[in-house]
Amino acid sequence: MQDASHPANPYYSRSDTTKLELPDKVWKSVLSRDLYQVARHGATDTAFTGKYWDYEGIGTYFCAACGNRLFRSDAKFASTCGWPSFFETVRPASVVYRKDTSFGMVRNEVLCGRCGAHLGHLFDDGPPPTGKRYCMNSTSLEFEPDRQETKKPQ
Ligand code: FE
Repeated sequence: MQDASHPANPYYSRSDTTKLELPDKVWKSVLSRDLYQVARHGATDTAFTGKYWDYEGIGTYFCAACGNRLFRSDAKFASTCGWPSFFETVRPASVVYRKDTSFGMVRNEVLCGRCGAHLGHLFDDGPPPTGKRYCMNSTSLEFEPDRQETKKPQ
């Protein structure tokens, strides 16, 4: 079911968990330029510049490319690294992992479990209870607050 909030992206859905396998040119046509570069080509937000690195809203973080549910705000922690950081995902299948050997390092790349978008990397220096640090790009995330502000009647 298409999400009406993303008219340019017919693959976006917060309810459909069916895996998406789309050609690169399709992603290029439905994602913003910045999101396409991060999600499909592993670009990285500059530290301390993204929307969410120091954001403390209460709610849920979804994959910005496909709407897959990724993190809850109560698994987010204040990290000094300059990127939004979480100690666990909403469910194990929210993400998948891939060994990344770029830049002379061996890192654990984190990808969206539904669409394969590049989200960031996983490190073992996070806080309890998991000791994990999901170091994410704000560009790949989309936050939805638990309660929408309701306008007061005039
Ligand atoms: Fe996704």
